[in-house]
Amino acid sequence: MRTWPSPPVPVLGTAGPPVRVHDTSTGSTVLTEPQGPARLYVCGITPYDATHLGHAATYVAFDLLNRAWRNAGHDVVYVQNVTDVDDPLLERAARDGVDWTALAERETELFRQDMTALRVLPPDHYVGVVEAIPLVVGQIERLVAAGATYRVDEDLYYSVAADETFGDVSSMLREEMLHLFPERGGDPDRPGKRDPLDALLWRAERPGEPAWDSPFGRGRPGWHIECSAIAMAHLGAGFDVQGGGSDLIFPHHEMSAAHTQAVGPGCAFARTYVHTGMVGYQGEKMSKSRGNLVFVSALRDAGVDPMAIRLTLLQHHYREDWEYRSQTLAEAAAQLGRWREALACGPVVGVAAYVAEVLAALADDLDAPRAVAAVQEWADATLTAPDSAPEADPAAEPPMRDVLDAALGLAL
Ligand code: ZN
Repeated sequence: MRTWPSPPVPVLGTAGPPVRVHDTSTGSTVLTEPQGPARLYVCGITPYDATHLGHAATYVAFDLLNRAWRNAGHDVVYVQNVTDVDDPLLERAARDGVDWTALAERETELFRQDMTALRVLPPDHYVGVVEAIPLVVGQIERLVAAGATYRVDEDLYYSVAADETFGDVSSMLREEMLHLFPERGGDPDRPGKRDPLDALLWRAERPGEPAWDSPFGRGRPGWHIECSAIAMAHLGAGFDVQGGGSDLIFPHHEMSAAHTQAVGPGCAFARTYVHTGMVGYQGEKMSKSRGNLVFVSALRDAGVDPMAIRLTLLQHHYREDWEYRSQTLAEAAAQLGRWREALACGPVVGVAAYVAEVLAALADDLDAPRAVAAVQEWADATLTAPDSAPEADPAAEPPMRDVLDAALGLAL
């Protein structure tokens, strides 16, 4: 699938530190240690309500990781999927009386435009499920061969008993899993299942639904198997980071890992699982079901500077659950104004210490608020420096403009 264009990224003359992130599966902050290129998989959108601020917060967070790795000297291979066939998309298309493929293409294009405006670096492989059906079928065949599947009527299910590490990603108690499973696409009460938590791998064709030929009959993939198949095909086993919103921890990431690891030894899924907090608005989590979505495209259409949107997101640590307030956009725009004034002053104070703090903050579990605070200190020092202050030596230090761009994705 076509991705979006990459913004130019300045190369800094100074290297950032090794990158640490919080790993959900161990509950601790861990050092990432890429062997060769850093390999990143972030779950993409289901294209029917793109792109609300919750989405944007997630993709900007992993953009910080992408940039921190690059600044630490790593090449990065970044994969993102698009769930361009699934129940919620088909339901929305039916509700609105539009063709599901047209809806998916329209919303995916809007997402590309929003990511471009927010200066999010594009994935190297942007993969739709429809184009990945052969990969999905191959992954299911491996699970069938491993004895990890069974039929319920014409549908094919994954048996959670097949992977003894099931539960290690979320560390959730079974009661908690049983509570969340039906809220997030699961069907625990379906008669014929061996375990209520078993997940659908292949849904046999139903009248009026899209379907593809496969060794298991005509049908379409379940949700979790798509990410297992796409990640294994494009990144390989034991990739560095699996990312997404915290609402994907269970069942989605637990199941994607299980669908991979049940194939056999040597089929480890991610080494580290990184999850972003939820964005609220008007007292509730931002979600389609509550109808309180704030769209990036609507803000852009209203003339909001995309860099102010990005700075608003950066003012919250990625793991934090936070509440969006519309006035914060104006505050962010004013703050960017101060930074632009400081950039226009030229190098009146040394930037090396501030640059080091920005890079250190981002390498320390992507601490964007700490990095933003360091930039603000630099701006304040620059704007209040006496006229008699000696000029800093720009040749010895990376320009703050490049650091803002390369590390925080803010082009000013
Ligand atoms: Zn996924």
